[in-house]
Amino acid sequence: MRDLLRDAEAGGYAVGAFSVANMECIRGVLAAAEACRAPIIMQIAESRLPHSPLYLIAPMMLAAARHASVPVAVHLDHGKTLGCVREALELGFTSVMCDGSDLPIGDNLSLTAEVVKLAKASGAAVEAEVGRVGKSEEGGEAEEKIASIDDCVRMDGLGIDALAVGIGNAHGLYAAAPKLRYDVLEQLHGRLHASPVLHGGSGLSDEQFRKLIALGMRKVNIATDIFMAQAGACEGTDIFKNIRRSSDAVCAVVTRYIRLFGGEGRA
Ligand SMILES: [Zn+2]
Repeated sequence: MRDLLRDAEAGGYAVGAFSVANMECIRGVLAAAEACRAPIIMQIAESRLPHSPLYLIAPMMLAAARHASVPVAVHLDHGKTLGCVREALELGFTSVMCDGSDLPIGDNLSLTAEVVKLAKASGAAVEAEVGRVGKSEEGGEAEEKIASIDDCVRMDGLGIDALAVGIGNAHGLYAAAPKLRYDVLEQLHGRLHASPVLHGGSGLSDEQFRKLIALGMRKVNIATDIFMAQAGACEGTDIFKNIRRSSDAVCAVVTRYIRLFGGEGRA
């Protein structure tokens, strides 16, 4: 992931980070990345693992990345426990997120420092979170919180590679158009080694995405739109037709986002 983000910074675009939940989803994401000749990040959040156990889905994600004709990073999204982070690293994930955003900043910093140490041993990259992206990854309630610039700079000092910044964004579906704090990104400009990450991408307007990427967002997470497309594509009782429909629907959504983020032809 480190290499993909460095290239994105040099090229002024964002790498799409697409959440996957099953084989159909993985194949749809991969098909889009290859058709667009785009480097991408494939990820799964710790909160999704009851539905898609890591020991089953991780080998599939890693096999997809190895077989891909474009660069694919395999990432743990919203790692909440050191146990899960350790397991993802042992399985071969190329990056892990350590989400201590619901902890006081001091505890978030020490948890992240621990994860940086673990990841360094396997050469993997680390994403941390400062402020808070509203709602949990599975849609549970949580108040969004705007990141403090000082906290971002302190977190960056731990040697992380990517930083999720709370700017009024939220996971899941937005009930009302979010008021994004572009000024936070403006103030962070040039002050971080880590690449800023946008969570809660589903539901933002094309204009909002363009502006955020112009202000330095280099990784943009998409989950809800992918899962909704998959579910909406299925009909009738033919499982094999539905496997195909489901993959095709994911491919279409991911293709649209890769182009919007400027990732097409960058592989
Ligand atoms: Zn997130």
